[in-house]
Amino acid sequence: MIQRPEDNRETFEHIDTDTRERILTFIESMEAGNTLFLQQLEQEALDHDIPIIRTQTQSLIKFLLTLKRPAHILEVGTATGFSALFMLTYAPGKPALVTIERDEARYRKALENRQAALDAGELNDAARCEMLEGDAAEILSQMQAPEGEAGYDFIFMDAAKGQYINFLPDVLRLLAPGGLLLSDNIFKDGEILESRFAVKRRDRTIHKRMREYLTALTHNEALQTLLLQEGDGAAISIKKK
Ligand code: SAH
Ligand code: MG
Repeated sequence: MIQRPEDNRETFEHIDTDTRERILTFIESMEAGNTLFLQQLEQEALDHDIPIIRTQTQSLIKFLLTLKRPAHILEVGTATGFSALFMLTYAPGKPALVTIERDEARYRKALENRQAALDAGELNDAARCEMLEGDAAEILSQMQAPEGEAGYDFIFMDAAKGQYINFLPDVLRLLAPGGLLLSDNIFKDGEILESRFAVKRRDRTIHKRMREYLTALTHNEALQTLLLQEGDGAAISIKKK
């Protein structure tokens, strides 16, 4: 184990909570913002306590989509379709997206929102946004790479945090070589940093599984993974060619 001097790593000790809050506010004030349609969709989701992607995660996704230019996107966890329609708005080159949601009410709301996007001219073709209802574990296990492709070139993992580790084998099978896997909410509002014993009993399983998931991502020879603080924490993994 290499012993690094204090000034060789970011300790954050000199940054108090207040300053961190101000840094975040500053970064957010620099955001160019989204289309009016997406702003309304986001507001509606927030008003109904739907856990949609945070501002910093939005910027990260816009950046990664611009860099990667995926042709096929797979999302696990649609909720009401905000992130799906967001990705289809900002991904260059008109990719196709498939998204999975198990909650019936949310799935139906997502279909409504897709229709609204079509009506508003935000989305040009419903076929580019395929919405599947059901449990992701089951649906993923039945899925194949898109027709004529080696796999999906961008996968967004944003469902129940305790299940990421169960989805992983299928997700890696469905991810094309060179493809990106973005996993959201890896810090669970900071809880993941706590010792297992500091976590409430009912959250311990999720805590343990998220730790296992992050270890699997960072120690898998086939992946190169970066853990980021953005939003609620995000992991970006590239499947090596
Ligand atoms: N990606 C959305 C937010 C998703 S919230 C956005 O940013 O706009 C997470 C969603 O995953 C919830 O709606 C939840 O119902 C769904 N979910 C959780 N576990 C799931 C599973 N096993 N299969 C399918 N959907 C699941
Ligand atoms: Mg999320």
